[in-house]
Amino acid sequence: MTTVAAQQRLIKPHGGHLVDRLDERPSNVESLETVTLTSREVSDLDMLASGALSPLEGFMGRDDYDRVLDELRLENGLAWALPVCLAVEAAPQGDRVALADESGRLLATLDVGEVYSYDKEREAERCFRTTETEHPGVARLMAQRPLYLSGRVTVFDRVPPAFPELAMDPAETRAAFAERGWKRVVGFQTRNPIHRAHEYLTKVALETVDGLLIHPLVGETKSDDVPAATRVECYRVLVENYYPADRVIVSAFPAAMRYAGPREAIWHAICRKNYGCSHFIVGRDHAGVGSYYGTYDAQLIFDEFEPHELDIEPMFFEHSFWCKVCGSMASAKTCPHSGDDHVFLSGTKVREMLGNGELPPVEFSRPEVAEVLIEAYRT
Ligand SMILES: [Zn+2]
Repeated sequence: MTTVAAQQRLIKPHGGHLVDRLDERPSNVESLETVTLTSREVSDLDMLASGALSPLEGFMGRDDYDRVLDELRLENGLAWALPVCLAVEAAPQGDRVALADESGRLLATLDVGEVYSYDKEREAERCFRTTETEHPGVARLMAQRPLYLSGRVTVFDRVPPAFPELAMDPAETRAAFAERGWKRVVGFQTRNPIHRAHEYLTKVALETVDGLLIHPLVGETKSDDVPAATRVECYRVLVENYYPADRVIVSAFPAAMRYAGPREAIWHAICRKNYGCSHFIVGRDHAGVGSYYGTYDAQLIFDEFEPHELDIEPMFFEHSFWCKVCGSMASAKTCPHSGDDHVFLSGTKVREMLGNGELPPVEFSRPEVAEVLIEAYRT
């Protein structure tokens, strides 16, 4: 089969085609008024450029924004879950502006669409289901500039990826899937080190499809999450030792974490569809933080869409554990035994053991992964 034919077997990008907003640096860019982006906006910009946010070609206008907040859909009716907006202090003068990161590096131009005011409380309530500023997503929203600037972007310079060896745009993951002859591919989102429980559910999912994309989020997260470099090393040793190389790709997902729970689960699924995944793993409390969302909210929200609207198929998972009686990994769905028979360690207990240089039980964590974490705690 030719590569083109193999690519055509993959799921279509959201909206039908993969957006590409990369182009040459325009000669007059230095003379344009410059808008400085926050790190989250830079990450959104890069995802707009690569097509990871297809069908979006730029930062959202008011009609898209309002309908996403109220109805989980873009103005044209296509499913969408979170605002992708650029906050500014004041309306720009011209009809085109340059976009820069916080160091002043020019990255893109934006053709000015609308400048509109927005209600932070409303956006917080809709997206995060709370207006409490202890929520990291709400805190960031409340600190934002007061107006949104919409418009199509053209990116001519990209911020170097944090992990160049793991950087793959949607066109590249799609090509890699096609090259391996995969049609059905399951995406796994994570921002934590992978222990046996995650290994188990990725493998259960992989049993039913052709390939697995381990797609850790390496964009901005809360400061108390495990550092991305440590997590990436955990994935590397785990995959090297416990997964067949021809069935798994590890690549970085460049999004910034929003902690929007259910809505972010939808948004993450749509992004992975753009990367070529036909299936997407959704665990309990996906993209949650604290106790702002119910345990199953990130799974239940998928019921608000007809299956064809998302196209990518969610695969829902329970917490899993090693059961001594079953003699295998299991979950409440598959094991009838009591908690006393399960190997369970709280997050606090695991951190305490690793901090003391102790390996957790092999039923909980692969020793290669635990060693990486112990080393990270030591430094
Ligand atoms: Zn059991």
